[in-house]
Amino acid sequence: MLRLVSQYFTISIYRENQMNILLVDDEPFALKLLSRQFNLLGYDKMTLCESGHQALSLLENGLQEFDLICCDLQMPEMDGVEFVRHLGRIGYSGGLILISGEDGRVLQTARMLAKAQHLKVLGVLQKPVASEVLGQLLQTQASRIVTPVQAKQKTYPADELLWAISNGHLVNYYQPKVDVATGAVTGIEALVRWQHPDDGLLLPAQFIRTAEEHELIDDLTKTVLASALHEAKLWHDKGLPLQVAINIPIEHLNSLDLPDYVARMVEKSGLPRSTVILEVPENGLINNSLPSLDILARLRLKRIFLSIDDFGSCHASLTQLRNIPFDEIKINQTFVHGASRDTSLSAIYMASLELARQLGMKTVAEGVEDREDWEFVRASGCDLAQGYFIAKPMLAAEIAGWIADWEDRQRDLFSERSMVGQT
Ligand code: C2E
Ligand code: CA
Repeated sequence: MLRLVSQYFTISIYRENQMNILLVDDEPFALKLLSRQFNLLGYDKMTLCESGHQALSLLENGLQEFDLICCDLQMPEMDGVEFVRHLGRIGYSGGLILISGEDGRVLQTARMLAKAQHLKVLGVLQKPVASEVLGQLLQTQASRIVTPVQAKQKTYPADELLWAISNGHLVNYYQPKVDVATGAVTGIEALVRWQHPDDGLLLPAQFIRTAEEHELIDDLTKTVLASALHEAKLWHDKGLPLQVAINIPIEHLNSLDLPDYVARMVEKSGLPRSTVILEVPENGLINNSLPSLDILARLRLKRIFLSIDDFGSCHASLTQLRNIPFDEIKINQTFVHGASRDTSLSAIYMASLELARQLGMKTVAEGVEDREDWEFVRASGCDLAQGYFIAKPMLAAEIAGWIADWEDRQRDLFSERSMVGQT
């Protein structure tokens, strides 16, 4: 089947039981060549686009879903890096192969940016693409490509979510943040789950987007904050003065009254204002929207602490860091886990740390998954750490027991021996 999508050259061929592949490259010849290479490797369900804009409109209008996207980085108008940022924004869940004639470091940087957006990067290929390299990549990575049907977790209609919010079916899980130098538990991040009556415990990936798209995010945020303050008060009363972190998708908030609401709620709880820190995802700042800046500035005026979440996942932060006085930077887990074995990751990690220090902000390494990550973060002089190695998110009732276990583990983690070889 031959189909013209716009004024650009686009071909779609469909067959059953084949990966649906989107190829994006501004050079018609390179595009044809790549599609021919896929053909020879036995793939023929392809859509060809000559620009990122065109590819994006196909993805956004939902007419087609793709299992794999191969994208050239060097394109006029929307380049590959920008295209990848949009893929992250729309939550593309298939595989991604990045292609470029630029030097290898550009490809590696683009790969890291894509991974930071939680995209599934199967590999990077130097242009001109060699068929055997492409074949090898597809062979070794095929198992990582899940079809959109498999990948798409069940989502829920907005009215069901509204009902869940109104009837107390949202539950906060809590993940501790610890002081890297002393091991002290300093704070705890609230991570919301939905206790669904039929489907069990649902993760945020299954409902946050619906909340954002249907103006339910303000209600959800207020519910999470209320529960977190309630638990924080109980912890404080037991002698555990934990700071609670709340996730705030700043660009999706609809009402400007959030700063007043937060201040009022903290006041009512009887806790000091410093008990609350709001984690604002870095990618929510890139549009520099006036309502977002208004909310952030007023939160600061009310002495509510602010943290930049997922730092490093996009590249619009330097101006924002200057404009908005954040108290804390959370370095994206992509640049933390495995950084001890990867010089590019550790370079980005160390640069983020240095930037935060220069600006007088606290640093948090997220995604500390194993002992190697822990030792690396400890040697780097980062202030706080968070991740599965320390603790997975848990119910409020489990925190006291976890703290007791953590105190036992500290004897090993902070022994002289564990720092040998570290600088
Ligand atoms: P986030 O704020 O970046 O939260 C960190 C996510 O990474 C959490 O996933 C956490 O469980 C997971 N995580 C923690 N340590 C590790 C680790 O060592 N390795 C790995 N691989 N993952 C780790 P979760 O709970 O599924 O939340 C996902 C995202 O959903 C959060 O990302 C946040 O953006 C959003 N979210 C969670 N709770 C809320 C909420 O109350 N409100 C809003 N608006 N968004 C929320
Ligand atoms: Ca967070």
